[in-house]
Amino acid sequence: MSLDFEYQANPAHVIFGCGTVNRLPVELSRLGLCKPFVLSTPEQAEHANMVKMVLGGKVAGVFSEATMHTPVDVTERAVSAARAAGSDSIISIGGGSTVGLGKAISFRTGLYHVAIPTTYAGSEVTPILGETQDGRKTTMSDPKILPGTVIYDVDLTLTLPVGLSSTSGVNAIAHAVEALYARNGNPIIDLLAQEGVRSLAESLPVVKEDPTNIEARSKALYGAWLCGTCLGSVGMSLHHKLCHALGGSFNLPHAETHTIVLPHAVAYNAPAIPQALVKLAVALPDSDGDAIHGLNVLLQKLGVRRDLKSFGLKEEDVAKAAEIAVSNPYWNPRTVEKEAIQELIRRAWSGEEAR
Ligand code: NAD
Repeated sequence: MSLDFEYQANPAHVIFGCGTVNRLPVELSRLGLCKPFVLSTPEQAEHANMVKMVLGGKVAGVFSEATMHTPVDVTERAVSAARAAGSDSIISIGGGSTVGLGKAISFRTGLYHVAIPTTYAGSEVTPILGETQDGRKTTMSDPKILPGTVIYDVDLTLTLPVGLSSTSGVNAIAHAVEALYARNGNPIIDLLAQEGVRSLAESLPVVKEDPTNIEARSKALYGAWLCGTCLGSVGMSLHHKLCHALGGSFNLPHAETHTIVLPHAVAYNAPAIPQALVKLAVALPDSDGDAIHGLNVLLQKLGVRRDLKSFGLKEEDVAKAAEIAVSNPYWNPRTVEKEAIQELIRRAWSGEEAR
């Protein structure tokens, strides 16, 4: 079969390793920046303070109020504070929520954004921003949203709780899985996707047993970067649409929802994606040539919860969720049929194994 594809890479200056947060002063001076505004969640205020210390106290300000779903009112307060402090750049340290706030501020102000991710969500390498206002979540994509520098410091992931390490890692795997059957997929992204899945699937079970294992943490973060790159490069399909609908409308937690839905979404699409399934099976240890089996085994090893009902989704919400998921559907390799989607969500709700 001859090859025919388009490939566009997002620009990225990536610094990866252990203790790399200490390279911040050199990176800022390389960029001619000296008044960064530092962001974190309240839970990671210590990480923000550590950034301040690394910079010898030379920051314009610290804002530790990042929160889930990037509410516009929080962003507006942060923009005012950053402007009032005369900031010349943004440093976000944290998971997708904090990086999201950094993107929202940078997009509005044009300030340079250095992202220091501490989960495996992958937002730091995508030009995508999701924001909420009046309870509605909207998503947009613009090259200006992409952070300019990404510092991956493996040491900062050591404190990521075991449960969130597992689910955040599967959230990353989901980006790569959908990249393997993306309409605008290409062989370069397939390579990144397979290497990303392999790295995470091999390392996450080790992290679960020994969260301070540097080698496993390093491999997991490397995999997360590759999977995030897939998310930022090609279109996502049914799985991401379902998780967006479930998270946005029923307030289900992001990483956990991705973890539960993934095998079901792949099983739904299976008849339409034979080549992607072969590539996925090759990347998953213990798949025995069956990608869905490989995903089920991985989730079993990680000991994660498999049912949406334990996160508060009610049985009567299943039909509502299906309704939302089939309205304005993303492109998907298999036609999105409401009844079958409702059955998919019901299985994920009850915790039945995907098949
Ligand atoms: P999160 O950022 O909400 O973090 C969850 C909690 O874990 C927070 O309290 C955080 O402070 C804490 N935490 C993070 N890293 C830690 C560490 N190393 N040690 C201790 N605590 C730590 O969770 P997330 O799953 O990373 O991000 C989810 C959000 O990101 C969602 O809103 C999602 O929509 C968004 N997201 C966006 C994109 C994109 O491309 N735009 C991609 C992925 C996720």
